[in-house]
Amino acid sequence: MNFNSYLSLFIFLLSFSSVYAQEEDISKIPPCGVREFGPTAWLREFQTNPSAFSHLRGNNEMLQLPMTIHIIGQTDGSGYFSRAELQVAICKLNSDFEEHNIRFFIQGNLIYHNNTSWYNHASFNIGNLMYNSTKVAGTMNIYIDNNAAGNCGYATLGGDRIFLKKSCIRGPSTTTWSHEMGHALSLPHTFSGWEDTTYDPTQPTPSVVFRGNSPVNVERVDGVDCVNAADGFCDTEPDYLSARWNCNANGESPTILKDPFNVEFRVDGTLIMAYSNDACAAVFSPQQVAAMRANIQTTKGDMVYSGSLPEFETPTTVNIAPTQDQEVLNVNILIEWEPVEFAAAYIVEVSRFLDFTIKEFEAQVTTTSVTIPTLVANRNYFYRVMPINNSDFCTSFSTSTRFRAVIQTSTSEAAGSSFSIYPTLLNGTEFMTISGRLNRSINVTFDVLDLQGRVLSSTEKFLVAGPLSETLYVGSLPKGMYIMRINSGEGISALKFLVP
Ligand SMILES: [Zn+2]
Repeated sequence: MNFNSYLSLFIFLLSFSSVYAQEEDISKIPPCGVREFGPTAWLREFQTNPSAFSHLRGNNEMLQLPMTIHIIGQTDGSGYFSRAELQVAICKLNSDFEEHNIRFFIQGNLIYHNNTSWYNHASFNIGNLMYNSTKVAGTMNIYIDNNAAGNCGYATLGGDRIFLKKSCIRGPSTTTWSHEMGHALSLPHTFSGWEDTTYDPTQPTPSVVFRGNSPVNVERVDGVDCVNAADGFCDTEPDYLSARWNCNANGESPTILKDPFNVEFRVDGTLIMAYSNDACAAVFSPQQVAAMRANIQTTKGDMVYSGSLPEFETPTTVNIAPTQDQEVLNVNILIEWEPVEFAAAYIVEVSRFLDFTIKEFEAQVTTTSVTIPTLVANRNYFYRVMPINNSDFCTSFSTSTRFRAVIQTSTSEAAGSSFSIYPTLLNGTEFMTISGRLNRSINVTFDVLDLQGRVLSSTEKFLVAGPLSETLYVGSLPKGMYIMRINSGEGISALKFLVP
């Protein structure tokens, strides 16, 4: 390993560690900022007067809701949650709602806002301001930023706004978005009333918890009066845990709790509306589902879209060019892939690393090819492509292909002599330097050829043995790729160069 290799390894490790230093431990972040507790008036009506909702569509009918995605960046435009990450996050959201025939899609383009105070917003007031000045009526407004008022997310119960901290929705197994969507579709926490109150197993459990002067009945294990306690749902069991917690092997709280009658129980951690961590939260109860479907069809009835939304037959594409291990010139690199039916656009990524943590190039295009202006030469790169549209999010990147970008300087050997040309990118100059070493003094011919093999100019020089550094006039050439053919009489070298 030479010094440069050590140096690039060092830079690689440095960048790698800095990437990880920026990652937050989301288990340390409060899961949710919702502080409205107990059922809203609408949910209370649904829970106590179900016959008023019996006309609604049955569970097997699909309900499709449009979302406006607001991507918040810093004022300088940095910090966006990427489109590829969004793809994974909405795929997870939709998979949590799939069996309940509720589906979310993006309406219109993503909306980008560059505002550092919104990006890092620490108070609900700023969130309200952001919503009031940017909301798109008739859609669920989703704000993705770097701080959701100190929480992983928050939402308005039964409303049309959701705020999400980007690190809490990253990856295929996070449940923050589904939890906040549950709120927006009317669901309180399963531990409703205990927000900001810490349950103490060593103390008797009260029959009522307060927020300010508002009392909420504490739910009992026997389920008596469950409709008037906590979240008002009788198929979500008692839960008093209002800080993030991890499940035991049975998906329950490791802590044994006692209800107001001293009956012991463990909390069900599989419910998405509890504060159990992402590894255990997975489901909504049947009554929660019924409430969400009813909420969509009543308060959000105008939003429901009944048209058909395109879904991919094949969720990925196949790379065409460059091919595996192909050497390509390091300027104007053409990346090409196969079209996929229903793709509205493609995300293209190029990285020196197979895990793509650091990207040399990324783009979103509506074509099936893209040209990269330049890459550092004499290095290997990987590229991959993902098809996207606004309704099917469970797509994936193509299998990545490795290629090598070559020749800023190319070297060739012929008959014991070696030659290099420099620069290989003739930008505004008509001269080129030939360097290398000659084993003996000799007449050498330098021909400039186009890619069809036509000789455009020819220069003969007598060169003396030893180290070589010779300036060669090649003239004014139109844009394109050319070949410098060097004929020493004992062998021929062909070196590519480009006029950009
Ligand atoms: Zn919540």
